[in-house]
Amino acid sequence: MTKSLSFRLSVLLILYTAAILLIATIAIINATHYHFQLYGDDIMRESNTTDLLNSHLEQAVIQSVGWTIAGALMISFVLSVVIARRISAPLIRMKRLTLVMARGKRDVRLPLQGKPKDEIDELAVAINHLAEQLQQQEQLRLTMTENIAHELRTPLTTLNSYLSAIQDGIWEATPERIQSSREEIDRMVQLVNGLEELHTLTSPEFHLSLRDVRLKKTIEQVFTLVEPSFAEKGISLMKGEIPDITLLADENSLKQIWTNLLSNALKFTPEGGSVTINGQMQAEGVEITVRDTGIGIPTNEIPYIFDRFYRIDKSRNRKTGGGGLGLAITKTLVERHGGQIWAESSEGSLFHVYLPTVGK
Ligand code: ADP
Repeated sequence: MTKSLSFRLSVLLILYTAAILLIATIAIINATHYHFQLYGDDIMRESNTTDLLNSHLEQAVIQSVGWTIAGALMISFVLSVVIARRISAPLIRMKRLTLVMARGKRDVRLPLQGKPKDEIDELAVAINHLAEQLQQQEQLRLTMTENIAHELRTPLTTLNSYLSAIQDGIWEATPERIQSSREEIDRMVQLVNGLEELHTLTSPEFHLSLRDVRLKKTIEQVFTLVEPSFAEKGISLMKGEIPDITLLADENSLKQIWTNLLSNALKFTPEGGSVTINGQMQAEGVEITVRDTGIGIPTNEIPYIFDRFYRIDKSRNRKTGGGGLGLAITKTLVERHGGQIWAESSEGSLFHVYLPTVGK
């Protein structure tokens, strides 16, 4: 258990007061004894005992006050060194570090020894955590900018070369070529929409509009929407037992989760394959799985597929039209509901979505 700083300071002040009182008492006892002894010796030689007593008492008081002041000053000095070491020094170090961080350096940390002992240590832990968060955000921002530039460069280069060829009269603007140019534009629109969506979802102002939603119904509605595309590609879409429960959730977000997972399954499953969605109650929630018999995901790639812009086979995915944002959006939506999403690869891919039902 950490002892609070105010507790430690109170103990220190009590000890300080006690030490001064102790010094004062010892000094008074010693000085009085000493001067009474001198008084006893002097009394043999002099006759004016009252004056003698007065003068010895006076000296005894002056001496004990002097010793007490000297003792108090010494303890104050030691105490101020201890307090300065424990409070001012770490605070100065923290101030320096935050100034360095403000100048843009993010890989700096405060040295920590073991578990936090008091509020000062806890503040240091909090500052280190802040530095880590800032560093991660910075890295994310850099990677994002790099990725966006990379994603936009290819369609823009393609469009540019198409238009130049048409302008130079090398190329005729046939309907197919116009269609292919539109596909490039669609890809960019998709990317911008995805980015906008992610931005909205991750902004602190965003709130899900939570209300009672029938889980099974959301899945059935998405099913109806995607079934034609599955039929067109020759993939059978199946639905197992889905628990007919009510969740406190954002209906559109739930539908988007199922749509994203099913459209990925459709994209990455060849003709003749199958995709199955299943549901099962868990201790404090419900788990929905989407299984396909498609190309699967290499085990070493699984940890990254939920990252923004992550695509396993970039060239193939360009053809399938994926921008690499779908699973990042899906994960954010699931987590916004207090749930979890994870994937497995076993003869195709298997995605699990766990949504809590606690409180229902
Ligand atoms: P994309 O828009 O490229 O589909 P996602 O974020 O949805 O982006 O998916 C990221 C990557 O994860 C995909 O590019 C693909 O490589 C892989 N992936 C996602 N779902 C599946 C699946 N069902 N089967 C195989 N690979 C998948």
